[in-house]
Amino acid sequence: MLFEDIPLREEIHNQLKSLGFQEATPIQRESIPPALAGKDLIACAKTGSGKTLAFLIPIYEKFLKSNEGISALVLAPTRELVIQIKDEALRLGMENVAAIYGGEGYEKQKLALKQNPALIVATPGRLLDFLRSQTISVQRIKTVVLDEADRMLDMGFLDDVKTILRQIPIEQISLFSATLNYEAMYSVWEFMKDPVEIFVNPEQITHEKIQQSLIHLAREEKLPYITLYLKEENQFPVILFSNTKHIIPQIAATLRANGIAAEGLSSVLSQAKRKKVLEGFKQGKFQVLVATDVASRGIHIDDVKLVVNFDIPQDPENYVHRIGRTARAGKEGRSLSICSEADYMELEKLESYLKYKIPVEQPRDELLAKLNEVTIPKTRLNQKTHRTRHTDRHKHKMKPYKQKARVKASIPRKHPRKRGAVRKKENRTTPQVKKQVLQVPAYPAATMPRTVLTKAKKPSFFTRLKKLFRKS
Ligand code: ADP
Ligand code: MG
Repeated sequence: MLFEDIPLREEIHNQLKSLGFQEATPIQRESIPPALAGKDLIACAKTGSGKTLAFLIPIYEKFLKSNEGISALVLAPTRELVIQIKDEALRLGMENVAAIYGGEGYEKQKLALKQNPALIVATPGRLLDFLRSQTISVQRIKTVVLDEADRMLDMGFLDDVKTILRQIPIEQISLFSATLNYEAMYSVWEFMKDPVEIFVNPEQITHEKIQQSLIHLAREEKLPYITLYLKEENQFPVILFSNTKHIIPQIAATLRANGIAAEGLSSVLSQAKRKKVLEGFKQGKFQVLVATDVASRGIHIDDVKLVVNFDIPQDPENYVHRIGRTARAGKEGRSLSICSEADYMELEKLESYLKYKIPVEQPRDELLAKLNEVTIPKTRLNQKTHRTRHTDRHKHKMKPYKQKARVKASIPRKHPRKRGAVRKKENRTTPQVKKQVLQVPAYPAATMPRTVLTKAKKPSFFTRLKKLFRKS
């Protein structure tokens, strides 16, 4: 179906033409007409299938039609995605779009909100800040879209999202994601009325154009192996995902030390740095983006050749989104997931979710033979180079304590304590605890001193008087 066959305003048709979009993707074909008719939507289609335009086109059309200057709200889980959706809306020809997200000053965003934007794209946290301080009124918002809806409605965001939704006079609400489940849908059922459900090819969750593979490696082999692998393949850009943010500097440094231009992206960076890294990668300034799941949802980077999972993600849905950074907009791509002894449980969970066994690739002998040649620079892991975020505080408090205890046990004391020299390891036995027997006098109750049996009473007024008379 061509965009021309969908009844839209002239300016939208022209803009789509100038962007080179003629044919609507299946999700756009299925979801734009009911959205234009004002229906609520539950829309599920694979990664990279054009869901952003599927919800932006009806929003723009509705805005152009109305004379009241109504506005719409799109909620998304990450700052990067908010910025990307805003850019896509501007590309479509919308003006006056406000992007609201954390990590940047309030003033500029407040100003954007004051100008009655046609569209607000926001992360829930910062939007709630503005709502609580009564900086904005949401009474003009009639349409709400939850992009990456399953993420927006999981434990981490649900309360915030519901608090926001309760304040809006919603006329139309839509959920969009590549991985939608009933749990997510039901959690906002109270806000929906008779939604149209659109599931494009639901039988296969991952995109069919991604060639997936899995490799089994020992934990210490992972970093040198993947460095040699990426060098040998020489097919960039590559996104490498890690489950933890603390190892990211080490992976990026190792790749760089071995001749691959790499940068890390995670929540430990300042927002300005995060923006710079992602823009740099989009512009092709370096070859490998080493990231946490902050980059797994929604981010579109042209023509990513390979996605590497440095470990198997704990959430199976995240696997779908991570590998979905490749093979977008009709292109092809590959994914390679590394499974070490720490990942077996996750692999089992993942494959039963996908209902698919990821094909196993054998480690290449010529690379295994060269693992020792890989330079692994020492980075200061787990040190205070990272900004401590509010949510991580308790973890940071726990770590040094555990590490100290372990280190102490393994290092012998330089100056043995005065009493008793350092005992040799083999002589270490459980110390004998001397039983202390409390010496309690065994008085028979009758002969016990009175003070023990009864509490000494304060003499009454009359006894004190009597005493006085006797003395006198
Ligand atoms: P999704 O949200 O489904 O993962 P996006 O909306 O990010 O995917 O779209 C992926 C890419 O496809 C974007 O670069 C977008 O500009 C492009 N795209 C969207 N619609 C079309 C279309 N009808 N024809 C060609 N490319 C499209
Ligand atoms: Mg998307």
